[in-house]
Amino acid sequence: MKRIVVALGGNALLRKGQKGTYFEQLNNAKRTAKFLADIIENGYEVVITHGNGPQVGAIMLQNEIAKNVVPPIPLDVANAETQALIGYMIQQSLQNELIKRKIDKEVVTLITQVVVDKDDTAFHNPTKFIGPYYKEEEARALMREKGWVMKPDPRGGWRRVVPSPDPKDIVEKDIICDLVDQGFIIITAGGGGIPVIRENDTYRGVEAVIDKDLASALVGKIVNADTLLILTDVEYAMLNFGTPDQKPIKKIKVKELEKYYEEGHFSPGSMGPKVLACIRFIKWGGERGIIAHLEKSKQALKGETGTIVVP
Ligand code: ADP
Ligand code: MG
Repeated sequence: MKRIVVALGGNALLRKGQKGTYFEQLNNAKRTAKFLADIIENGYEVVITHGNGPQVGAIMLQNEIAKNVVPPIPLDVANAETQALIGYMIQQSLQNELIKRKIDKEVVTLITQVVVDKDDTAFHNPTKFIGPYYKEEEARALMREKGWVMKPDPRGGWRRVVPSPDPKDIVEKDIICDLVDQGFIIITAGGGGIPVIRENDTYRGVEAVIDKDLASALVGKIVNADTLLILTDVEYAMLNFGTPDQKPIKKIKVKELEKYYEEGHFSPGSMGPKVLACIRFIKWGGERGIIAHLEKSKQALKGETGTIVVP
């Protein structure tokens, strides 16, 4: 049986212009569940991963606003919270969709810790903006009080920046493989996973954010998937993106895509990590890495749309 890792982007739960209410997110999750059920119906063993940008941002903002009433939680704990809240919505929506289609499979969400290297250079160069926007004076006070690193965000105001280290291993990997082998559909490595470092043979959470596409490639390697399907809000990775001569990349060999990656066609933090995830997945022995639009997942699996990376 074919095994696939499906990485859900932000649009799986929130669409452009929405506020992010629970009902909006649940309705989007129900719609996303139909696309996932189509893939399952097509005979794939499915492992689901997802992002958490807007949700973790909202939790950090709630923490900030309520800090004099309820003690704030660290970022790794906030990440765990988003794995549960997003996992719940997808788990229930997908389970309901499977019941309606009379598919006898169960869905389960796994709190997932992803190991990063404590010497990763990202720890000396935090790049990922998170949480609320502050005035410069407030930001300077927070840097003194909490030891946070804060920088002016190009979108205006000062924000906290955290490291985005490379995912190296998954603490729960044996459990993940067992559950997949037993036929369960699992939701794992949500938001890129909870970043942890190894210390004296034990684990400790760190305040960082792991890219969900890179974490998904690692999940693909660990479960020995044939396909990595990265679903997002565009149909293709483009060359010369945003210029008059932009051009969609359709089927491409990993070697050629690597060349384009090095030439800088894909923005860091958005398309860049998706392309890198596909490159890594193929180099680790995967058959196909696909970047496609969420609503065209079925067509993408038939090879009719999407950027399809092959060995
Ligand atoms: P997701 O939530 O699915 O991870 P992202 O916003 O992180 O979504 O990444 C998708 C976005 O990447 C697209 O909406 C597009 O604006 C942007 N992008 C950057 N470079 C490219 C490129 N070369 N080709 C296509 N899209 C690109
Ligand atoms: Mg993204």
